[in-house]
Amino acid sequence: MIHYSCDCCKRKIDPHDELRYVVRMEAFVAMDPSGDDDEADRDHLEEVQDILQRLEEEDCDQISGDVYREMRYDLCSQCHKKFVADPLGRQAALQFDFSEN
Ligand SMILES: [Zn+2]
Repeated sequence: MIHYSCDCCKRKIDPHDELRYVVRMEAFVAMDPSGDDDEADRDHLEEVQDILQRLEEEDCDQISGDVYREMRYDLCSQCHKKFVADPLGRQAALQFDFSEN
């Protein structure tokens, strides 16, 4: 049996006892159109994949991680609730700022 633990609070998630949530995130370099309106409809993800392919050929893992990164997290129901309420942790950052004063 596979045991999962929450990637946020590190608590073990008992599948019989509670729901487990999977969060998948993609972060990639934005390809802004070069000022030409005809370019606006182009599939920028395709361009990123082109860059990735080139980088793979050059075997340059560090740079490809900066261009495109996919992340996957297992979350318990409590951490999932917090995550969807504030996916970028902005509230947490604000609270931290306030407590500093
Ligand atoms: Zn958790």
